Amino acid sequence: MALAPEKGRQETAAPTSPAPAIELRGISKAFGPVQANKDISITVQKGTVHGIIGENGAGKSTLMSILYGFYKADAGEIIISGKRTVIPDSQAAIKAGIGMVFQHFKLVDNFTVLENVVLGAEDGWRLTPSLRKARKLLTELAEEYELNVDPDALIEDLSVGHRQRVEILKALYRKADILILDEPTGVLTPDEADHLFRILEGLRASGKTIILITHKLREIMDITDTVSVMRRGEMTATVKTSETSPEQLAELMVGRKVLLHVDKAPAQPGEEILSVENLVVVDEDKVTRVKGISFNIRAGEILGIAGVSGNGQSELLEVLGGYAKATGSIRLHGKELDLTGSKSDGQSRRANGIAHVPEDRHEEGLILDFEAWENMAFGYHNDAKYNKNKFLMDNKAILEDTQGKMDRFDVRPPNPHLHAANFSGGNQQKIVLAREIERNPDLLLIGQPTRGVDIGAIEFIHQQIVALRDQGKAILLVSVELEEVLSLADRIVVMFDGKIMGERLAGETNERELGMMMAGMTPDKSDGAGA
Ligand code: ADP
Ligand code: MG
Repeated sequence: MALAPEKGRQETAAPTSPAPAIELRGISKAFGPVQANKDISITVQKGTVHGIIGENGAGKSTLMSILYGFYKADAGEIIISGKRTVIPDSQAAIKAGIGMVFQHFKLVDNFTVLENVVLGAEDGWRLTPSLRKARKLLTELAEEYELNVDPDALIEDLSVGHRQRVEILKALYRKADILILDEPTGVLTPDEADHLFRILEGLRASGKTIILITHKLREIMDITDTVSVMRRGEMTATVKTSETSPEQLAELMVGRKVLLHVDKAPAQPGEEILSVENLVVVDEDKVTRVKGISFNIRAGEILGIAGVSGNGQSELLEVLGGYAKATGSIRLHGKELDLTGSKSDGQSRRANGIAHVPEDRHEEGLILDFEAWENMAFGYHNDAKYNKNKFLMDNKAILEDTQGKMDRFDVRPPNPHLHAANFSGGNQQKIVLAREIERNPDLLLIGQPTRGVDIGAIEFIHQQIVALRDQGKAILLVSVELEEVLSLADRIVVMFDGKIMGERLAGETNERELGMMMAGMTPDKSDGAGA
């Protein structure tokens, strides 16, 4: 454990050893009953990339929002470059040399890159800079840090990766020395993420300090110098990245040992369960989302669909689940399914042995105002075992069944009468999974199984999916987390722009190859070495 050295108290930076870029001391913040930050102290050295890792809800964004002047801490102090600094708002943060790149970009869509960068910076001490001057500075910054974007492009025409660069340029234009990035890679392709990391390395080399918030262990290991771990509002450790491991970090995040890789035997694929041919999906706005795709899934295998979000995967799931219409053909056990997308189709799919864990469990998987036990019967209320007779549901049977499912899937708290809204994301997901998996379906459709789910629950969910596969079921896994697809799927199909870019066996491909396909490129098969 390499804690940052304690410097002698100094109110100004000594010329020999620079003061830390940032010191937070005893920061606490509560939102009503939720203690989001508890007595947090952290020292970030100048010219380093300092990672902050923690599960959903650990308090990372809250801490950074305090540093950026969005929230006022209940207690504690902020010291920037050795000086105690009060940061009541983001203007003060910018003045103190802090820039922030948010999870959801704050750019004006119908303005150009240049206009967005300059916007809001005119006021304050910098008097109305001429756009020409700004353009020159932008070009310099772009060259220095690989931050190339066309200054005259409209934001709405830029890819997500480019928009993020504009956010970074905006911060640099405001002379930020300290850059905070909150989960910056969530929306990027692996290539874009690599590019971002090169930018960050350039910034570090030029003496900037970077705070990188993420829940992805790999990013921490790849790019940070130091990492601080948060758990339930507390800072549990700060370690040098070179002296830790993903396993140790996971344990510090969760508070117990976690199995990080999926333990599974090679697949034993059997007969074909699902066959999709030339499927075309046109949405309500007449936009073609799925452009004639074909694939199949056999019993005892997990087919993973990789791709950046928005490339037709969601529409594919909806059609398979019976919630949207399509043309082409889908056969289950060789029998054609109805693709007209009439309302009752979700039900008939279930009756046919297709279970569905939808991507958006708030919208489609659960009714949040209903209790857990009512949600367990959701979609299956016509089942014989839930009904006393034609007219009456057997509430006692449903309750007992729910209790058993909650125990087996370790839903916390195991209270069938709690409203779905009152469970955490991971536990809501377990409720949907328990309901769908224990149906013993022939085909399980599962979208973003671990989105918003903690590492501990991810481990469990992955085990359940593999167990179902090993019972000879077919599984279609759609996930935007490439790592998840790679570790869970037996076979992988990459979707880009509504089409299938390629198919690989999981054991015979890698992130780089899949990443290229995710970006719409067809990788040269002979090129295994990597750039
Ligand atoms: P992280 O960024 O690590 O996922 P957050 O800092 O966003 O975590 O959240 C920490 C805790 O504080 C969570 O329980 C969250 O629900 C709560 N929280 C965050 N912001 C607010 C807010 N504005 N109002 C109420 N509760 C909040
Ligand atoms: Mg956050």
